[in-house]
Amino acid sequence: MSVLKKIVVTGGAGFIGSHFVSRVLRRYSHYHVLVLDSLTYAGSLSNLEVHFQNKRFEFVRGNVCDENMVANCVSDADVIVNFAAETHVDRSLESANEFLKTDILGVHVLLEAVKKFDIRTFLHVSTDEVYGSVDEGASLETDSFNPSSPYSASKASAELIISAYAKSFGIHSLITRGSNTYGPNQYPEKLIPLFITRLLDGQTVPLYGDGLQRRDWIHVDDHCKGIDIVLHKGSPGEAYNIGGGKRVSNIAIAQRLAALTHQPDERIRFVKDRPGHDTAYSIDTSKVQALGYEPEHDFDTGLAETVEWYINHEQWWRQALERETKEGNFAARWYGNGFNAEI
Ligand code: NAD
Repeated sequence: MSVLKKIVVTGGAGFIGSHFVSRVLRRYSHYHVLVLDSLTYAGSLSNLEVHFQNKRFEFVRGNVCDENMVANCVSDADVIVNFAAETHVDRSLESANEFLKTDILGVHVLLEAVKKFDIRTFLHVSTDEVYGSVDEGASLETDSFNPSSPYSASKASAELIISAYAKSFGIHSLITRGSNTYGPNQYPEKLIPLFITRLLDGQTVPLYGDGLQRRDWIHVDDHCKGIDIVLHKGSPGEAYNIGGGKRVSNIAIAQRLAALTHQPDERIRFVKDRPGHDTAYSIDTSKVQALGYEPEHDFDTGLAETVEWYINHEQWWRQALERETKEGNFAARWYGNGFNAEI
């Protein structure tokens, strides 16, 4: 009988992490998956409920900043894949506290555990936002960091600490820098799910500035495929860009979503731009492609399927929004009446 390997997936109840858990359980029968997640507003157990009967799966509610909790979960682990993070740029502009705690100090707690328990591999999920705005050309992994928001600065900080731990203590680290990700299971506050859910309700949607900001969009399944490839084929100490190869402006996405939800373009309202808003991201993905990565999802098809998912999972997103409205109500504070504002 083969011995199971234990993989701890932190933040596995969130958007990308939950897809990664499904991928690992589906593809690798030799992995036991433990999800450690504190279940913030962005995490949901319903993203994982299909696995609750699986003997190779377990869930622990806990914070990556809690040393004892982390030690209990990872002391016998072979691999840690860290998705746990505060992830919404707008929230980091309102208050960076939780971002510095989870995205930097939480990573430090994980690194100390990797060192103490001699864990074979630590894969950290980072973002292409560490490079800052890239209007021409495409960022290489060797390019310097130039983050614009407290969120991206916290992700860049974590990467520097990881790199220092790799050099100083010889830990086996891998870093992925994924681009803007879309698909099912995403809490409705970032561009695509926020716009879909509001349009489905016949409401207006707030588009920052001139709406011409461009992002490299990747389907969540492609992002998870890239992380999987880096985990199994990446070289220790290296970082890898993972992109979808499709650059689209925010306004073009808003118009496509209006069409897909049968709403008029007039639902799109231009609002005051976000401070420090990066105009464009673009990454060179040849390094991960050399490991065998290619994105499989066409953006237009993926976007239409994502709209279908939100139509078919209305209860999921309404419950998530209701809970957040009661507990934090960030959207009302952030946008005020901006949902309806014109500039
Ligand atoms: P998400 O906000 O949907 O999920 C984050 C998860 O982390 C949630 O389940 C939350 O409960 C959990 N979490 C937060 N703080 C925690 C803590 N202190 N301890 C334990 N769990 C905690 O995020 P996502 O969009 O799935 O992003 C996952 C990772 O991928 C993040 O590290 C993010 O920086 C990175 N990333 C995201 C994107 C994107 O477009 N969404 C793109 C590139 C990289």
